[in-house]
Amino acid sequence: MSGLKHLFTPWRMKFIKEGKQTSGCVLCHLVTQQDGPENLVLYRSTHTYVVMNKFPYNTGHIMVVPFVHGSDVTSLSPEVMQEMMLHAQKMMQVLTQTHQPEGFNMGVNVGRAGGAGIPDHLHFHVVPRWTGDTNFMPLFSQTRVLPETVEQTYQRIKQALSS
Ligand SMILES: [Zn+2]
Repeated sequence: MSGLKHLFTPWRMKFIKEGKQTSGCVLCHLVTQQDGPENLVLYRSTHTYVVMNKFPYNTGHIMVVPFVHGSDVTSLSPEVMQEMMLHAQKMMQVLTQTHQPEGFNMGVNVGRAGGAGIPDHLHFHVVPRWTGDTNFMPLFSQTRVLPETVEQTYQRIKQALSS
């Protein structure tokens, strides 16, 4: 079984454990809090908020989250869809400024089978990519070294947003 251990990453496991310990929805809980480095919420608007992923797949991994709890993309209103895309676009611009990525992955994982970490509350991912960073995919993350902490990334992006 020792080989299996290497298929998991410490922070993804931590994420799963924390998710189980928290009563209610983690993403709904963030809606009720003040934006700040302690919860990594960058800003919010009418229907959605923007938060750093606490357990990122890559440096600068952010999520755009609708305030409304739900997993059904097809039932989202045009207003919410539009706001999610506009924030994703804005965050691409900001991340390009702060971290100069060479590419992005953007999208929604729908359902457990679709790879969603929090399947009950949908969220739009924006993940910066650099050539060669596949070496740092979660599978191999026990040897991965992120160039900066999530808190440092938060501060850099927050600064860029307010300038
Ligand atoms: Zn929720």
